Amino acid sequence: MVGMRTASLVAAGLGFASAVLGGCVETAPELGSNGSRLTFEEWKAKQYREASGLYVLDGDVAIRDEARLFEIWSGSQPGQLAVYTQGGQDVKWSATQRKQLTYCISNNFGANKSKVVTALQGAAEGGWEMMADVDFVYVPAQDANCTAANTAVLFDVNPVNANGEYLARAFFPDSPRADRNILIDSTAFDPQLTWPLRNILAHEMGHTLGLRHEHTRPESGATQCFEDNQYRGLTPYDAASVMHYPQCNGTSADLSFTTLDRQGIAALYAPPAPPNPAPMAQFNAPADGATVPATFNVQTQIVDTDLARVELWLDGALAQTLTAAPFNFTVTNHAVGPVAIEVRAIDSAGQSTSQNINVTVEDGAVDPTNPDPTDPGDTDGDGYGDEVTGGCSTGAGSSGGLALLGLGLAVALRRRRR
Ligand SMILES: [Zn+2]
Repeated sequence: MVGMRTASLVAAGLGFASAVLGGCVETAPELGSNGSRLTFEEWKAKQYREASGLYVLDGDVAIRDEARLFEIWSGSQPGQLAVYTQGGQDVKWSATQRKQLTYCISNNFGANKSKVVTALQGAAEGGWEMMADVDFVYVPAQDANCTAANTAVLFDVNPVNANGEYLARAFFPDSPRADRNILIDSTAFDPQLTWPLRNILAHEMGHTLGLRHEHTRPESGATQCFEDNQYRGLTPYDAASVMHYPQCNGTSADLSFTTLDRQGIAALYAPPAPPNPAPMAQFNAPADGATVPATFNVQTQIVDTDLARVELWLDGALAQTLTAAPFNFTVTNHAVGPVAIEVRAIDSAGQSTSQNINVTVEDGAVDPTNPDPTDPGDTDGDGYGDEVTGGCSTGAGSSGGLALLGLGLAVALRRRRR
């Protein structure tokens, strides 16, 4: 759909910074308020417009179409801030999308790129992802082609020359791909800026999650900061919210997160998913150090809630894979000698757990000078009967089925003695 908002930390942010830096005090910018008594055309002419044609309102919110602009200009009902709404519906990501908020960071940031990488990851992993069930996923492989046309990521992060009109701007979840960008002005990197870059980008990421400016709520008393009423309140008013401009009667000096920010985003997207532990894996048989026949069973037990597969590795080579319980493998006619057995359990998140044992496959060649009359057979064709363990055969006779049973018992007995 056309005409959705994008969002940015506005000139308001810069004004604040300027006041800090140069001693000049700028008033907060006129945002989407219709209290200015300007005609729509007059008001529109005052809005900052990017070269792309996007209007950037409310400091860091981008709007593309005229109809939406008019809605904003004409809106006069103070409301509750929080999540952006359209037609009474929350504008937010689906349960699937919110776990795959992929982005690239343009190489065009040059020397500033590492700062952007660190700030975004800090705001995501140390912020939004700790407060709600959302996942921002940085995809460095797309950095060399990190444009608004790149559909391999959900959004791109690029430098912009906004001439200080804003520090950064973002978008809302209903923006088309072309508008889904976080744009960062060079002023955001000013070392004297009192707002950490991480916090500026945390604010922008809040917009990408659907959050509106907290200062548009009537409780702020900042009528000059009122935007429109296209939102639904998620929490009580929070003057210190990361989404509240300090210069709009806010109480935060640095755009940091608050307890209500946590409550609000958790209310919108659910609290963070509980930790997903790696699979638990254990060997039931054979025992570590056991001697086994050429054909033997590897019995494992795996406990996990999102198990993808269980792999059996023999001497460092993948031998078998199972995707459903029971996770018991049969190794057939293995060569004589020591063998390293590893079982790897891998879950849907790619987390794996390995357990290792070492056994020895015994030829079982019977000493021809002292043949064992109960030897179960000659499966390896060496001319000698197979032998389970030294002198521990259980006399299963010549029946194949019974012989196998006998082997199993022998192994069990050995284990019990250990
Ligand atoms: Zn903003």
